[in-house]
Amino acid sequence: MRILIKNAQILTMTAPELQKGDILIIEDKIAAVGQVPREMLTGSEKVIEADNHLAMPGLINAHTHAAMTLLRSYADDLELMTWLHDEIWPAEDKMDAEDIYWGTMLAIAEMIKGGTTTFADMYGPFMDKVAEAVTSSGIRANLSRGCVGAADPEKIKIAENIALFEQYNNGADGRIKVWFGPHAPYTCSKEYLQKLAQAAWERGSGIHVHLAETTSELEQIKEGYGLSPVEYLAQAGIFDGPCLAAHGVWLSDEEIAFLKGKDVSVAHNPVSNMKLSSGAAPVAKMLACGLNVGLGTDGASSNNSLDMFKEMAAAAFLSKLSTMEPTSLPAYEVLKMATVGSAKALHWDKEIGTLEAGKKADLILLDLNQPHFCPWNNSVNDLVYSAKSSDVTHTIVNGQILMEERKLLTIDLAEVMAHAQKCAKRITAK
Ligand SMILES: [Zn+2]
Repeated sequence: MRILIKNAQILTMTAPELQKGDILIIEDKIAAVGQVPREMLTGSEKVIEADNHLAMPGLINAHTHAAMTLLRSYADDLELMTWLHDEIWPAEDKMDAEDIYWGTMLAIAEMIKGGTTTFADMYGPFMDKVAEAVTSSGIRANLSRGCVGAADPEKIKIAENIALFEQYNNGADGRIKVWFGPHAPYTCSKEYLQKLAQAAWERGSGIHVHLAETTSELEQIKEGYGLSPVEYLAQAGIFDGPCLAAHGVWLSDEEIAFLKGKDVSVAHNPVSNMKLSSGAAPVAKMLACGLNVGLGTDGASSNNSLDMFKEMAAAAFLSKLSTMEPTSLPAYEVLKMATVGSAKALHWDKEIGTLEAGKKADLILLDLNQPHFCPWNNSVNDLVYSAKSSDVTHTIVNGQILMEERKLLTIDLAEVMAHAQKCAKRITAK
């Protein structure tokens, strides 16, 4: 399909300045941005008049557990380990394939409505249902089967991650990438981590892991192995290939420099870190050191939304508060984390993250005709400090319009919400 977006304020994320112009999409790619050649302005099947709209790359959620939407508001205001052991894991044990499917569909609906075009998911079992939901909804995703070694003596979860890779990697017209998901240092033995690293590197894949999230994790790994979580994962070979490390709240300066020398990116999850009182990740230090940082929401039960606009504001505010330095994380740096940073973290930066001719057409439009954008001073800072996810009117992924004028086109929202409500009621019944 050929789509022409006319007269938009365009933020390409290759530079902080906005430009007024058009965007031409042909099939799954951006054909031209800004000044579209006159001879290309005709012949589009779809023309979107985008006066008073801002076009920008779709937001990329670099760390979540999509089907945890079913556990939204189920166990709030608890410490991480209590939350996991006493509430989340027992409820997750009751989840079947249907639950995973509808929980993921609910997550995808929320993400598309809020301008998220790609997400990195670590969950399971039944990750094939997540892949199905990604395929039918049109969104883009990096999927990994969350492998908790302590609960996997037969290494069935590793086999499931391999099967997921074999069946779905590069599937759905290239919208699905499959990585491997050792859950965390405190849930996986060294031998178990080595097995997953080997499975990933053999297939040219990557690793998605939680890292240095809480002080209790640091204490546990110190007690068990006399190491820091980074040293522990390094010894197991987890950093010997592409690695997406969620949180990194408790990384030392030396560890940040060490990870910078590896193919490691951090997924920063400020709302989850604040809600669970995990701490404030040293994001400004990471960026100053040149370590790549993406932005994620974590699961809906520790957030409690999948709203990347809320997450961007939180990232800026948390950095400013924790460093007592208002210049520590400027708005444009936050926008970069949610787009190019996350794209790089998922090894998708050649295809997505910016609006450039030749890249995949993953982009969103925001309605600027809102009181919270007035007066409009062409300041991209407002996208971090004033914007709301409900400002998103159009979401396009791989050249397909998934939401038009705030209406989802590939998802029956009423059906999804009815199923999700039913599933959630069953798994959270005590
Ligand atoms: Zn997580």
